[in-house]
Amino acid sequence: MPPATAAKKQYNREYRLKHRDELNAKEKVRRLSDGYAQRKSEYDKTYHQAHRAERLMRYKARYAAKLEQERRASRKRYADNPEKARACARASRLKHLAKRLAYNRNYHRIHGKEIALKRKWQARLKSAKRRALKRAASVNLKGIKAFVDGVKAKSSALCYYCGAVIPTKGRSLHFDHIVPISKGGQHSVANLCVSCAPCNLSKHNKPLSEWLKTSLTQQLLPI
Ligand SMILES: [Zn+2]
Repeated sequence: MPPATAAKKQYNREYRLKHRDELNAKEKVRRLSDGYAQRKSEYDKTYHQAHRAERLMRYKARYAAKLEQERRASRKRYADNPEKARACARASRLKHLAKRLAYNRNYHRIHGKEIALKRKWQARLKSAKRRALKRAASVNLKGIKAFVDGVKAKSSALCYYCGAVIPTKGRSLHFDHIVPISKGGQHSVANLCVSCAPCNLSKHNKPLSEWLKTSLTQQLLPI
């Protein structure tokens, strides 16, 4: 249908005004006629689907125009009924779970190499940073080597923290900085100890006092 001209629109408007009651009565009859609801519903559905993109654009524009207002309203909704808001969020997450997983998988398929490379560089940067810290905090490297060699020369050693007997061959022997280097500790014999793997890995870079407070430590240490 060609777009109605301004004159035609004006005419229609006047016509509708003039014949309002008559038109309304006609419409009422039409609504009561057989199958009207069905036809209307089908028409609405088709219209809704056909104009989906358009509608989404409109919603987006409206949301962007009232961003602050929408955010305030959403914060208020949350504050008024946090339980309901959380349930809503959970339901939404579940509803879109499959879609999100598919998206993530696809993203990984396309960007997998990039991600792996980025992670590799992040790991390298981290170990470089650690090495630099260690260099700066080093005291008497020869003494450290002597200490480490001395421990390794024996067949077993005791974990400084939990007292477990550790074989010195293989991966279970760890050396730990009692005050972590990242927390200002020195790379020195005085700050080094023998540690079993579980203690060292659980302590990670926590200061001793903090690590002792964690529940895992309570299980590890025979206190
Ligand atoms: Zn231990």
